[in-house]
Amino acid sequence: MERLRILVTNDDGIQASGLVISLVRELSSLADVFVAAPDRERSATGHAITMHQPLRASLVELPPAVTAYSISGTPADCVKLAVDKLYAGQIDFVVSGINHGANLGSDVLYSGTVSAALEAVMLGLPAVAFSLAAPFEAASRPCFQWAAETAAHLMKLILVNPWPEDTLLNVNIPGGTRELLGVRVTSLGQMRYKNPIEQREDPWGNTYFWLGGQFDESVNPEVTDVWAVQNGYVSVTPLQFDLTNYRLMDEIAAWELKLPSREEKHDHE
Ligand code: MN
Repeated sequence: MERLRILVTNDDGIQASGLVISLVRELSSLADVFVAAPDRERSATGHAITMHQPLRASLVELPPAVTAYSISGTPADCVKLAVDKLYAGQIDFVVSGINHGANLGSDVLYSGTVSAALEAVMLGLPAVAFSLAAPFEAASRPCFQWAAETAAHLMKLILVNPWPEDTLLNVNIPGGTRELLGVRVTSLGQMRYKNPIEQREDPWGNTYFWLGGQFDESVNPEVTDVWAVQNGYVSVTPLQFDLTNYRLMDEIAAWELKLPSREEKHDHE
């Protein structure tokens, strides 16, 4: 059997620990690894793509000897460029991560890590996003190394199964010192924040704002990814890009929405 060819990307930038020292090295034992990642931190850029300036891709050396491009765009740009151009016809699978920080619940819509995997799915490739759900101060190198070993182990189990079409797997691995209880398949929860906007003043008396806030732990039932990670489980959520609320289609259709009649339109002129 031919060796699997995996594209590794992220949103923390090509120099990030989660990609360089951990994921690339661990996945190299399973597959031929190719890298295309942003040239700088691009967290919380969601599914943005770059359309009004050029994209530049530079070959860089990454240990172990893998071909790697550092790209002046977003995570979604990186996947598009890698799959359609830089490694055209060479990619079988896309892995995004390991992100520095959780990507859970409604926050996945802001996530560059998850969006890179989603872009792969939109291009017809299977994809997995990995995130290390640890407080920033706890996400040390050994922590990433351990998460990468867990990710590679899960990839082995994932790859023997038929791939669900139009779907990516969003995997969050709790970090820190606590012992893990197992792996749960979950649905997206809600990430609600208390005091989400901090208002401050600069030295000249002008107001400015920081987005942030404290996570409100109260709202997530046991089936959710948020609950699983809070309670010491690795969370695996199958995600798709179709946000349609199918349950409401008939109900909205019953509203009988119409265009204005020509007479009504005339009245306004
Ligand atoms: Mn990130």
